[in-house]
Amino acid sequence: MIVSCVGIGIGAGARIAIGEAYRLVHGPVCVTPSWIELEQVGGEIERFQRALDTACRQLLNIRDQIPPDTPGEISDFLDAHLLMLEDKAISGGVISLIRNKLASAEWALQQHRDALIDIFDQMHDSYLRNRRDDLDHVVTRIQKVLLEQNEPVVSNLRGQIVLAEELSPADVIVLHNQGVMGFVTEYGGPMSHTAILARSLGIPAIVGARGASSCLCHGELLVLDTDNGCVLADCSQSLINHFEDRREFDHQRSVLLRQHRDEPARTADGQHVELLANIELAGDVAAAVANGADGIGLYRTEFLYMNRIDIPDEEEHLAAYSEVIQGMQGLPVVIRTLDLGADKPLPGAHDGSGARNPALGLRAIRLCLKEPELFRPQLRAILRASAIGDVRLMLPMLTNLWEVQQARLMLRRCMRELEKEGIPFNPDIPVGGMIEVPAAALAAPAFAAALDFLSIGTNDLIQYALAIDRVDDEVNYLYDPFHPAVLQLIMQVIQAARAADVPLSMCGEMAGDPRFVPLLLGMGLYSLSMQPAALLDVKQQIRGYKLSTLQAKTSRFFDNLYTADPLNLLTGWND
Ligand code: PEP
Ligand code: MG
Repeated sequence: MIVSCVGIGIGAGARIAIGEAYRLVHGPVCVTPSWIELEQVGGEIERFQRALDTACRQLLNIRDQIPPDTPGEISDFLDAHLLMLEDKAISGGVISLIRNKLASAEWALQQHRDALIDIFDQMHDSYLRNRRDDLDHVVTRIQKVLLEQNEPVVSNLRGQIVLAEELSPADVIVLHNQGVMGFVTEYGGPMSHTAILARSLGIPAIVGARGASSCLCHGELLVLDTDNGCVLADCSQSLINHFEDRREFDHQRSVLLRQHRDEPARTADGQHVELLANIELAGDVAAAVANGADGIGLYRTEFLYMNRIDIPDEEEHLAAYSEVIQGMQGLPVVIRTLDLGADKPLPGAHDGSGARNPALGLRAIRLCLKEPELFRPQLRAILRASAIGDVRLMLPMLTNLWEVQQARLMLRRCMRELEKEGIPFNPDIPVGGMIEVPAAALAAPAFAAALDFLSIGTNDLIQYALAIDRVDDEVNYLYDPFHPAVLQLIMQVIQAARAADVPLSMCGEMAGDPRFVPLLLGMGLYSLSMQPAALLDVKQQIRGYKLSTLQAKTSRFFDNLYTADPLNLLTGWND
């Protein structure tokens, strides 16, 4: 059987996964009002207390099985949930609703949860607001026990392929730590942060595979072929052998590419191309170095906030940045300030992720400027990191020039504080910005004048230009980097950066996709930042081109932008 679905391209060596299916059940439970008789009260309270004990045992069991190298935040997070289970403010309220209102345990718990959530929602302190999500997780766990929808205890997924309705980027980090072989989700798009993270961590994944989890069985052997976007089940031995051979071929190819790691990324006629890495976690630096990155072109720092209940402080930011800087041994590191919101929510905070259109809401620089107390520790940490290496600061999701001015103002305030405290930093730290909103692309000359460097974020630029939610699998088919409007926006940014003599890079997924690399070079973009696993492939590709040929072909393509068939563009670059 083949389940057809959307695949997400994975770099060399991670395109095939073969493993047993592991059905991951999670998500909200549905509780409807239900009542008990007076004589059932004692038994119902006991049932609730037994559910609390079971939920507690489940959490202890998970905590005991956490691999030793898992980040401390994950066990802290479980400890906080355990404390909530013991909290009398939760259990006392539920018991009183069972006793006084004759509500069933499930319904009493639900009502009490809603009352507590109302209180959390009114809190101004972001730390306390974070507790809202924890409360929800804990209540869901107890509800599942009461409703006998017990979740499997997940602790070791080594060699398994997870099947889930949906996974957040935070879930992917946990699955990675548990050694997962691959995953399949019913929802989500290939440009979602979940998919980007999977590529970056080298986890083969298929997203947006509607119906997959209902027709695939827990425990059966699956093959993920991410190149073709397929999940295969019921495979014959000869088919399994075929995929094992392909996996081996990928492995051999990556070994071969690695032998050319130190060769320059230069076209046959001498154009040098800077190849940078995108990273999510400090631990990704090893892959960036192993694949010969010229630096870090995008460090997505919001991943520091995931799978935890508190907010990282300045010292923690600094520790993570120092690890990256040291790992890169003098090469440049572009630290992007928080891009929380949309599909990377800040747990419990008012970051717009609960809004009707979170991608259009309080996200990234908008959130940071609105919540200076969230932004300030990061700015101070980036400044402090600038004293130990070639650090550059990059602002995401710029739309208005005043956002740059306001961010610079806050940065200057942090500089003054550090100066007074006698803490070193680089006063000339380059401040760059992401061009990922069409308004910013159209106003690129103004942004180029106000910033020290620019980087095109095509993932969002395409989402906003074409009015398609990058995480919505229903509109995946409209996600088209070849759309004439997208290409014109990119071209305008290239021209604006060149006119202002401001360095320009691209850090969206398009930059590491071999289908687009020759076109981007032909358009005049000579700095590309991508998931580390794509670097060596792209370098190899660049070395095979003549820039003059790419320019001529690109120019012909642009002359016929609205009528040219982009598929023709995909071939013949080496002629
Ligand atoms: C982008 O939008 O292209 C980008 C690189 O940022 P992110 O994917 O993190 O939104
Ligand atoms: Mg973006």
